[in-house]
Amino acid sequence: MLTGKVIVVIGGDARQLEIIRKLSTLDAKLSLVGFDQLDDGYIGASKQSIDDVKWNKVDAILLPVSGMNNEGEIETIFSNEKVTLTPEMFRQTPQHCTIFSGITNDTLNHYVKKAKRRLVKLMDRDDIAIYNSIPTAEGTIMMAIQHTDITIHSACVAVIGLGRVGMSVARTFDALGANVKVGANESHQLARITEMGLTPFHTDHLKEELADVDICINTVPELIITAKVLAEMPLHALIIDLASKPGGTDFRYAEKRGMKALLAPGLPGIVAPKTAGKILANVLSDLLQGD
Ligand code: NAP
Repeated sequence: MLTGKVIVVIGGDARQLEIIRKLSTLDAKLSLVGFDQLDDGYIGASKQSIDDVKWNKVDAILLPVSGMNNEGEIETIFSNEKVTLTPEMFRQTPQHCTIFSGITNDTLNHYVKKAKRRLVKLMDRDDIAIYNSIPTAEGTIMMAIQHTDITIHSACVAVIGLGRVGMSVARTFDALGANVKVGANESHQLARITEMGLTPFHTDHLKEELADVDICINTVPELIITAKVLAEMPLHALIIDLASKPGGTDFRYAEKRGMKALLAPGLPGIVAPKTAGKILANVLSDLLQGD
């Protein structure tokens, strides 16, 4: 239980509601900042303006999956008011206060370092990344259906990268009957792709390997689908780039060549906010109870 713990939840989207629900059930005392348009009431939770938070009483601060921008602003879909954090707010918290955020950036790192507080980057965790790969794969299927006029069954699909997302995406497209090839750059990953019954290829040969695909899904967060690679791809090929912004595709060149290339961030929050919220809520409640 989290009885007596004071937690400030700041901004976010529908995923945050599952977190609030779970923490409220666990008896935490919640301050909700950036939720003034939220109608639901939660036991032990009160809506507050960021200026009214008593930072010296806070045990944990929960930022949304997107963290904050470089100006310290936090996105929220439940308020029209701007929510901005300052380093001073972190500095006023007790030393044991932990900050949880989906991802981080230079500004958040700087704030945390200046205040000498602990930052937990939830999206860096293997458990969350693997659970999240399930709604990500489903969202990718949704996009493939929406943006092609062929079935996934029998389509030639290339997945680039065999990390946590790539593995789930490759497996899901394979299960739907696509002919799936997977690009990787490590021999153990090529071995795993073979073991999965899929066709492996080394990403050094991307140009040749993508020359016959109907759908290409990238998960590598660096420029990998370059203009050179795109120039050899069929014009009808759909590129779904799942890698974090700015993705791994030369979108300018793809557009110039008349190809459909889509950067598709945040699919779990779009296609399954409730599940994605529960994934975060379960891990967060374990972490908070272990603190
Ligand atoms: P990950 O587990 O680190 O997977 C990335 C994979 O790419 C790793 O296996 C890495 O291999 C491989 N890789 C890196 N450079 C490569 C290259 N040049 N050639 C071949 N393989 C290469 O990350 P993840 O959790 O799967 O996430 C992948 C990306 O998707 C991230 O940018 C993440 O932020 C994003 N994401 C997007 C969504 C969405 O909704 N769009 C959802 C979740 C995650 P090594 O391990 O050997 O480096």
